Amino acid sequence: MITLERKPLLMIVSAPSGAGKTTLCDRLVKEFDCISYSVSCTTRAPREGEIDGVSYYFLSAEAFDQRVQADEFLEHATVHGNRYGTLKETIHDSLKSGRDVLMDIDVQGAEQIREYVLNGTDNEWIQDIYVDIFIAPPSMEDLQLRLWGRGSDEESVIRRRLARAQEELAYWRQYQYVIVNDRIEDSYHALRSILIAERHRVQRMQGLGH
Ligand code: 5GP
Repeated sequence: MITLERKPLLMIVSAPSGAGKTTLCDRLVKEFDCISYSVSCTTRAPREGEIDGVSYYFLSAEAFDQRVQADEFLEHATVHGNRYGTLKETIHDSLKSGRDVLMDIDVQGAEQIREYVLNGTDNEWIQDIYVDIFIAPPSMEDLQLRLWGRGSDEESVIRRRLARAQEELAYWRQYQYVIVNDRIEDSYHALRSILIAERHRVQRMQGLGH
């Protein structure tokens, strides 16, 4: 019997807000026990139902800054006027547990990680395990409809997000995979297929000997 040991994946998913990323990612972590979200830090206020330490680590601007100064973040960025970041410790702890990690981060954060994968010091741990996916809306008109229809944000917030979405779309070519989220079932099928295929990559396997 051949048994292979697999290094856990670090899967990054970015999308303009309203493209359907949260729906797709939530479904993925629900279906597959072996992958879970990394919990980010943010300076934005919690939304209704969000729990500190589960949805995000909600930090004051000062506490966030202290962690930046102490070089505790793997990446961090300002998104829609608030700061967000992933702590190195969070990722290392998740990977140590052997589980795949899903990072829902913006295009700036993904760019910083890509740069680290290519040129960072002490980056061997991340090189073999990194996968990134961009989720695009089928059109800007569709995105507008989705954002207005969501009803959870104020008008000024929606306008800011739409302007930002236009900028974010320009980043799609930097990713390894892109999913245009026209029909949610098809998009989900694509996302789970990527996860399954990436779990079979030889570069992440150990145990056969040669
Ligand atoms: P929200 O405030 O709606 O939860 O997230 C807003 C945006 O911030 C989303 O595009 C999300 O991907 C991004 N985001 C969440 N956590 C992080 C993080 O740790 N780093 C970066 N760069 N972006 C993040």
